[in-house]
Amino acid sequence: MAKIQMKNAVAELDGDEMTRILWKVIKEKLLEPFVELKTEYFDLGLKERDDSDDRVTYEAAAAIKRLGVGVKCATITSNAARLEEYDLKRLTPSPNGIIRAELDGTVFRKPIIVNNVHGTVSCWKKPLILGRHAYGDVYKNCEIAVPGPGKAELVFTADDGTVIRKTIMDMKGPGILQGIHNVDKSIESFARCCFFYGLSENVDVWFATKDTISKTYDGRFKDIFRHVYDTEFKAEFEKAGLEYFYTLIDDAVARVMQSEGGFLWACKNYDGDVMSDMVASASGSLAMMTSVLVSPDGAFEYEAAHGTVQRHYYRYLKGEKTSTNPVALIFAWTGALAKRGELDGTPDLTAFARKLEKTTLETIEDGTMTGDLAKIARPPAKHVLDSWQFIDAIASRLT
Ligand code: NAP
Ligand code: MG
Repeated sequence: MAKIQMKNAVAELDGDEMTRILWKVIKEKLLEPFVELKTEYFDLGLKERDDSDDRVTYEAAAAIKRLGVGVKCATITSNAARLEEYDLKRLTPSPNGIIRAELDGTVFRKPIIVNNVHGTVSCWKKPLILGRHAYGDVYKNCEIAVPGPGKAELVFTADDGTVIRKTIMDMKGPGILQGIHNVDKSIESFARCCFFYGLSENVDVWFATKDTISKTYDGRFKDIFRHVYDTEFKAEFEKAGLEYFYTLIDDAVARVMQSEGGFLWACKNYDGDVMSDMVASASGSLAMMTSVLVSPDGAFEYEAAHGTVQRHYYRYLKGEKTSTNPVALIFAWTGALAKRGELDGTPDLTAFARKLEKTTLETIEDGTMTGDLAKIARPPAKHVLDSWQFIDAIASRLT
């Protein structure tokens, strides 16, 4: 069978530990036999990042911007223990943080659903994609512990000296104060990323705030989303038969819990922090969750939501064939290849990616899986395999 050709390359960002081991196996067994892979390779292994003072991470981010599509392996975020373990020059910043900042991007998490692993929310039949605004609000706050009675004020001094002043509270005794902010530019970027990804996934976009209470602050979020939608995305959404739905955050939560999923839920920073953990835990397994970074100009970086699975790696180094679940890593690749095919107008590449996804899910649904899923599968697993055997099982169905 002739291999599928790629028109343009994807940026390939290699990583660390167990996911780095599986990365190779996935390419060798599931991709290279079928696709003439065209990638620009960046080694984001911890040592390489340290040696290059993170230059390699910035180069990889630039390549994602240029090529429009990237695929990333999980990477270690260094800490004191890693400093010693890898004999590093210094603590390197989180590569995901660097790439997200370089792309001004938003991270979306999407569960991978199979019919024999049941999440705790039984009405969620389709993936619920969650996007979290990653700037400002309570995460960049300024707080004061008020010692006793006094006047609390909110003051803004413009560059030209104009002052806007409001009384927050005439404090009668000890208490607490908090100042938070956000900026239009960041909210606009967030809105764009959400609408881009909604279109890309062919799903409705939901957004919610508490604008009835917070008329100025949350009201601004509501207005910006509406404006970006109306002026930049409405026509395309209508053409695709999709909807932008705005409601209050408490109403959104109530509706989400009774929905069947299958839409993108855009959340303000704190809502996203809380709700992403709820959605992830309700969906069953971290190993069945993909993560996509989307930039406001429409570049996409695909990865697994989980980390480098350090504990399995140490067992692997001792010679054990671990039963680490490669599904989210496989879906990172299929996401990137499908997007590449879509952007390049090469439908056979996209079709191959979709086929690999379908085959992976069918393998699990037929009872063949890794240990993490076997623990929660109903009906119980027929074959519990190590990662290598599981990847071989998928490969044998592909040919
Ligand atoms: P982790 O790699 O996500 O793994 C935590 C635990 O979850 C594992 O020990 C394992 O549980 C289970 N697990 C996760 N993925 C699995 C998979 N594919 N198959 C089976 N089980 C899986 O988190 P961590 O161990 O806390 O972090 C390790 C490193 O990853 C850290 O250095 C951290 O900085 C990095 N990290 C990177 C990213 C990223 O690049 N996006 C994200 C998160 C963390 P059992 O041991 O019980 O089997
Ligand atoms: Mg959280």
